[in-house]
Amino acid sequence: MLTLENLSVQYGKATALHGVSMEVAEGSAVSLVGANGAGKTTLLRSISGLISPSSGEIRFKGQKINGMPPSDIVKLGIVHVPQGRRLFPYMSVMSNLKLGASLRKDKDGIKRDMDMVFEHFPRLYERRNQRAGTLSGGEQQMVAIGRGLMADPKLLLMDEPSMGLAPRLVAELVPVIKTINKRGISVLLVEQNVPLALGVADKGYALQVGRIVLEGDIELFKTSDIIKKAYLGE
Ligand code: ATP
Repeated sequence: MLTLENLSVQYGKATALHGVSMEVAEGSAVSLVGANGAGKTTLLRSISGLISPSSGEIRFKGQKINGMPPSDIVKLGIVHVPQGRRLFPYMSVMSNLKLGASLRKDKDGIKRDMDMVFEHFPRLYERRNQRAGTLSGGEQQMVAIGRGLMADPKLLLMDEPSMGLAPRLVAELVPVIKTINKRGISVLLVEQNVPLALGVADKGYALQVGRIVLEGDIELFKTSDIIKKAYLGE
């Protein structure tokens, strides 16, 4: 469904991604793990069209998308839930969610998806008229994910949803992401939190200073020395 081929990204003279190749199959959930500064955000921003790669190609369902405007990439069904949530804190939960649907015209579909988001996150329904900035960190992450779902994604890109959340709330994200994936939405999750990454994905990639150092079935990740040493403190 999504293919990255030999993707490189430069910030001036610094290379953030060195020839990264990846594949996200339709219907799958893929996790990319990497430490601070590994290039995870750069990779997602390249897929969303927010950064132009210096070389390589990004294809979605066979169509080359690098070079397309970000809004056209959203219309194809690639939707980015950014790091740090980026909500509008003085707007209500409902208004934040509606922003996710701003490129859509299918009113019935938008209504249906709003109902679906509230079904996923009953707490957001209770707080729908509250300002987003007054919600807890975990609830704000739910709003950010809900806003992504309001764009009717085929592929959801999630940038470190665990950031700033207490371990209990991180654990709550596992069933949330799995349920989204079971609805048929493909997921590419980038995370430093390896237990979360391992808990939701079928396939994994590990990124170290801009290079893929491990890829394969998620079971391989669970037993990999690279992962145990680098992230699990073993
Ligand atoms: P984090 O978890 O801290 O967000 P990350 O894995 O998402 O890390 P990136 O934010 O993609 O990593 O950064 C990859 C590298 O590119 C880092 O060395 C970073 O300092 C550098 N970098 C990121 N954005 C820019 C920028 N706008 N200009 C210059 N260098 C940048």
